[in-house]
Amino acid sequence: MNEARPSSQFGELVFNRKAMRERLPKEVFTQLAASAETGEKLEPGVADIVASAMKEWALSKGATHYTHWFHPRTEKTAEKHMAFLTLDMEGTPLESFTGSELIQSEPDASSLPSGGMRSTFEARGYTAWDPSSPAFIVQTEKGGTLCIPSIFISYDGTPLDLKTPLLKSLNAIETRALRLLRLFGNRGVRWVKATIGAEQEFFLVNESKARLRPDIIFCGHTLCGAQPAKGQQMEDHYFGTIHPKVLAYMEDVERELYRLGIAIKTRHNEVGPCQFEFAPEFSEANLSNDQNQLMMAVMKRFARRHDLRLMLHEKPFAGLNGSGKHTNFSLMDSEGRNLLSPSGTQKKSIQFLTFLGGFLLGLSRYGSLLRASIASPGNMYRLGGNEAPPAIMSVYLGEVLNQILDRIEEGLPESIPSKGSLDLGLTRLPDIKADNTDRNRTAPIAFTGNKFEFRATGAPQAIAGPTTMLMAAWAWGLDQMTAMIENRLGDGIEVAEAALEAIRHAAIESRNVRFDGNCYSEEWAREASLRGLPLAYTTPEALAYYLVPENRRLLADLKIMSDREVSAFYEIQIERYVKSREIEIGVLESMVREGILPAITRQLELDGRAYRVLPETLAKEMPLLREGLSRLAMTREKLVAACDRAQVLRSRLSSASLEEGAEIVTSEGLALMEEIRGLCDSAETHIDKDFWPYPRYRELLLIF
Ligand code: ADP
Ligand code: MG
Repeated sequence: MNEARPSSQFGELVFNRKAMRERLPKEVFTQLAASAETGEKLEPGVADIVASAMKEWALSKGATHYTHWFHPRTEKTAEKHMAFLTLDMEGTPLESFTGSELIQSEPDASSLPSGGMRSTFEARGYTAWDPSSPAFIVQTEKGGTLCIPSIFISYDGTPLDLKTPLLKSLNAIETRALRLLRLFGNRGVRWVKATIGAEQEFFLVNESKARLRPDIIFCGHTLCGAQPAKGQQMEDHYFGTIHPKVLAYMEDVERELYRLGIAIKTRHNEVGPCQFEFAPEFSEANLSNDQNQLMMAVMKRFARRHDLRLMLHEKPFAGLNGSGKHTNFSLMDSEGRNLLSPSGTQKKSIQFLTFLGGFLLGLSRYGSLLRASIASPGNMYRLGGNEAPPAIMSVYLGEVLNQILDRIEEGLPESIPSKGSLDLGLTRLPDIKADNTDRNRTAPIAFTGNKFEFRATGAPQAIAGPTTMLMAAWAWGLDQMTAMIENRLGDGIEVAEAALEAIRHAAIESRNVRFDGNCYSEEWAREASLRGLPLAYTTPEALAYYLVPENRRLLADLKIMSDREVSAFYEIQIERYVKSREIEIGVLESMVREGILPAITRQLELDGRAYRVLPETLAKEMPLLREGLSRLAMTREKLVAACDRAQVLRSRLSSASLEEGAEIVTSEGLALMEEIRGLCDSAETHIDKDFWPYPRYRELLLIF
């Protein structure tokens, strides 16, 4: 048993402020801390000192290697380990790590997706240290690796990762938020940071069972499987007692994450059987993104030690709830104030509503970018089902906030007193927290008291992508609010009054995306279409939103992604989609041919033999046996035919363009997979358990 207090181990594997202060000369520490906070560039000489301190620290923790740890556009992280060990001229071994090695590295990264941004002759990619996120050590039994959070760019400086656009979007929102804060008279504020807390949902199944299913191994989710008699009907899993085996796993993961400076605040059973959630304490968005990636890696690694398989897929099992990553977000200033926290004072309330209004404006105009940012291959199985958030981007604000906006929308009082009370119902703002208790779970975005929650992010997704688009939309909205206010200030109007006008504009403009009703209902889909909201039901449709000229322009104007980068980004995503589907079709086909068809044949043999051994007179009286036999035989025929079509479809993909491929797998591939699955699932319920080649849902969904 690990008896150390979590607080005593917290962050021991992170080169955090404490470690830096202990190991760096005071001036260097101050410079590095300032650079981490404000993004200022470090002086060249400083890097050597930092590198040497980092190396000594890492060696003291048993690390033997270092790596630039980065986020290529695969949604996962990448690393190329380098040994500290070097030989000097005389062949004497020593550990070395220089400032330039800390700052920059050149992994041979030509095989990572670039969306055509990098032709092979200029295949070099650089990783560069991101000092705003601390280095950390991934320990193994035999040693460990010092991981240096980095950006990844091509040799001409074009970003090839998810972190660079994220950092740019954070910069965009920060400058806008600062400008707005200053308008409201907050002169002392030095910085504004986006904060993110990502709740991680996941499934755990027994490793020994998962290993027997090619679909879980290669696709991360099941492609067939009949519904078990007991699924989630009883609703007895959510918040239930955590299974001891799972709890032991969670405790190990938490301990390791504490050491890595990640504070897991909540753990609980989720709705689906074998589904769980971890929620960490929120932090600055860039760090949060790094930490979430690290967290997923640790969760995966420790699952093996507990003979469990971690399933992060958005929809591991048909008929059961899928997994998301609710992305909570807000803004925090250098005084530690949450800018989405409603406050009692008049001026602060108006400031709060201005920030809120900025987001609403952004959402009403650029909701399609948010939709694109969560369009992954797996999320298509989840979004729009009856449990997950729908695919239409709308926001739930709750009764109190909506009433306030409605009042402001109805019209402002003739003359606004510059001081004293201004009764617009604003005094009721503190009630928002109370209103929050009964919140709408069906909305993809909800205001939850002092932050927004974006619920459409898929469980395995890097939060960098959705966060980038959330911040882009919000930054645009804040720009609009600021411009409106500044304009009116020119007319000699007070800030509060000018801001109320801007809020009124935002309230009116955002009517299209504000919806507090049931977002799962068909009426909402109809209404959303009347409101002209972007409706994309498939991943390719949603990804195409990246290519909308207005969206491209926004990303370029905010300097988040150039026009060329957006095209490349789109291409990477669509390619990932087509390839994922192609793999799924191939895996399903092979599961049928190698496992399911032989199982059916054996069952036919068994039943056929039974039929033959019966005396003829008796057999005549048993039509059900004969019918069962012929039905199973027909299922087999249909399966063979469907697999043959799958094979043809896959060969067509090899000569299709990306767009054609997307069209083929979406319009034909998905239907074909559904057809095959239907046949498999019906066969499964009629076949001897010893013949069925793969663990069934019933067995998978039982942890023992
Ligand atoms: P829920 O009731 O939505 O399941 P949880 O407690 O599971 O809530 O998770 C809420 C998440 O929101 C946590 O990760 C928490 O750290 C995060 N959060 C709280 N405040 C903020 C904030 N100001 N900015 C960003 N995230 C926040
Ligand atoms: Mg939660």
